[in-house]
Amino acid sequence: MRYDCIIIGSGPAGLSAAINLKTYQKNFLWFGNAQLSEKVQKAEKVVNYPGMPEITGQELAAAFVEHKEHQGLEIIDKIVSSIYDMGGYYNVMAENQFYETDTIVLAMGVVPANQYQGETEFVGRGVSYCATCDGALYKGKNIAVVSTSERFEHEVEFLADLAEKVYLFPYYKDCKMERENVEFIKKPIKEVKGGFRAEQLLLGDGTELMVDGIFIMRNAIAPTTLLNKLEVVDGHIEVNRKMETNLKGVFAAGDCTGKPYQYAKAVGEGNVAAHSVIEYLGER
Ligand SMILES: Cc1cc2nc3c(=O)[nH]c(=O)nc-3n(C[C@H](O)[C@H](O)[C@H](O)COP(=O)(O)OP(=O)(O)OC[C@H]3O[C@@H](n4cnc5c(N)ncnc54)[C@H](O)[C@@H]3O)c2cc1C
Repeated sequence: MRYDCIIIGSGPAGLSAAINLKTYQKNFLWFGNAQLSEKVQKAEKVVNYPGMPEITGQELAAAFVEHKEHQGLEIIDKIVSSIYDMGGYYNVMAENQFYETDTIVLAMGVVPANQYQGETEFVGRGVSYCATCDGALYKGKNIAVVSTSERFEHEVEFLADLAEKVYLFPYYKDCKMERENVEFIKKPIKEVKGGFRAEQLLLGDGTELMVDGIFIMRNAIAPTTLLNKLEVVDGHIEVNRKMETNLKGVFAAGDCTGKPYQYAKAVGEGNVAAHSVIEYLGER
């Protein structure tokens, strides 16, 4: 089955795109975080969102969730790890499953700048962002796993079932993993190194860790890692006023298109992107 659109990202930009596509009865999927966006929840006080003169991030997040439920919108709580241009349509991969779509709205927020040196170079050659896709390749091997959120614990468990040894770098509080073959490492990673394949992590204290592979579980993936022909300038996706990217049928909205990083901008761009999707589908 081919969808009209797939939205990637569940912050204000993705929500706004989803509300509008639903209103126009489009057949779409929405990938993101079941909690919508950590960035919304974390704001202490928001004073610049129209109609809500003073609201906490938690209250704004609750209002967004209520709106999502009121519209009957469903989020697929999976990280999209790759998008393939099929010449006229796209194949979106999330946790080892492919979904076909005519259009895409990228609303992934900004990827934190803390990608490791060497990381991108070894994607597909020892660096993976998807446990279910690539875990089987590391059966009985030694792997490093970077996890930035509790929501990835089931994936770490899955990898620990397969691997001989997991070196876990948990970058969040209260990691509850308890497995004999999982060793916690509390040092920062400086660089991913190797020959043809990634095989070494250089750590902050100058020591090196030899591994067969590295899984990196972040809440976001760099735009060009997702879709390699996408035009990106200074880490932001290039768009025009219709939120069109350089790729036909691919639109972007929110922080991923650039500053200012603000809720109102994200919501506005999500709205424009959805309308451009509708127009594009109509023209086809
Ligand atoms: C502490 C804090 C306070 C702030 N206060 C304010 C304020 O007062 N006023 C204001 O206007 N703005 C504020 N902001 C900025 C605001 O949070 C952002 O501008 C806004 O959330 C951007 O929305 P977005 O939809 O573009 O992305 P995000 O809110 O970042 O949402 C992106 C979502 O997409 C998901 N995602 C990313 N990649 C993938 C993938 N590959 N597959 C599936 N899902 C994916 C992420 O998990 C995330 O849930 C604040 C930000 C912070 C951190």
